[in-house]
Amino acid sequence: MKVTQHIENANGKSLFSFEILPPLKGQNIQCIFDNIEPLMEFKPPFIDVTYHREEYEFKELSSGLLEKKIVKKRPGTVGICSAIQNKYQVDAIPHILCGGFTKEDTENFLIDMDFLGIDNVVALRGDAVKSEIYFKPEKEGNHYASELVTQISNLNNGIYLDADLQNTNKTNFCIGVAGYPEKHMEAPSIDSDIHFLKKKIKNGADYIITQMFFDNQKFFEFVDKCRAAGITVPIIPGLKPISTKKQLNLIPHRFKVDLPDDLIMAVVKAKDNEAVAQIGIEWCINQSKELLKAGIPVLHYYSMGKSENIKAIAGEVF
Ligand code: FAD
Repeated sequence: MKVTQHIENANGKSLFSFEILPPLKGQNIQCIFDNIEPLMEFKPPFIDVTYHREEYEFKELSSGLLEKKIVKKRPGTVGICSAIQNKYQVDAIPHILCGGFTKEDTENFLIDMDFLGIDNVVALRGDAVKSEIYFKPEKEGNHYASELVTQISNLNNGIYLDADLQNTNKTNFCIGVAGYPEKHMEAPSIDSDIHFLKKKIKNGADYIITQMFFDNQKFFEFVDKCRAAGITVPIIPGLKPISTKKQLNLIPHRFKVDLPDDLIMAVVKAKDNEAVAQIGIEWCINQSKELLKAGIPVLHYYSMGKSENIKAIAGEVF
């Protein structure tokens, strides 16, 4: 079922959902199930599975020259989605990127998902590969998420890349896209970012799911700005409980989001990571309760492959 239908069917009740990462290559599907299992009692209507593009590794040869190797450390997004749907009868949502995909690759990926009975997809541009500063699309690929949304919408209308195909199957994907309450790191301003977010909606996206934030005020202001810009689709907040001291530096650096001073000082004063995890849980519970009070349709948690803290939060909130 589509995310938008889940929201409609909930009749105003807020839903719980979460995102998982494929395991590192070499692991098996059981480690995914072990992570999901403790969260199933909160009845998530859908679970997101991230997509991880290739990385470049450089190995020094005896000649002193560098050999470039392309590696994919976390493959398996579509297989994991299919396994989750089979085992739990819950909608699983693969993330799909512009990066590393030609339009032909994208079309074939979408056809696989359609054949597997996957009804939802989150369309993203993806980041630059680690060894590069700027995002570089494939030569025959989509440059921005808005273009990827157009390609998926086209497929929903039976329009394939090969215009000669006749009597084509129309897919029926519900399309989610990313939104950034504190603006995307490359965007010159929040207004320009929302301008391009609106383009994703105009091209066919059905809902927005946000980057993590730690101050609800930033989310509420973002929603107000989106509504003022004429964006009417559901906006789902993404929440991440802090769990280690290291994340105090890592999260602002990696995601370009601010941490509130109260949260920073509490983490700084914490005696160890166990205490930090507890602070993160309590902070996230407070955020969640305020968002629920505001009637937000879905709260979406970034599990980052760990379920204990999300379970502790969901147990208090849902
Ligand atoms: P876009 O919407 O294409 O925007 C990228 C930038 O370009 C923005 O600054 C935007 O303002 C600007 N822009 C957009 N259109 C135009 C235009 N026409 N002209 C000029 N500027 C433009 N990454 C992964 O690799 N795998 C994942 O699974 C994944 N999941 C994510 C889930 C969520 C909820 C979020 C918030 C992010 C996720 N990301 C993931 C990270 C994401 O890929 C990066 O943040 C990426 O840098 C931007 O993706 P986007 O889809 O927001 O890009």
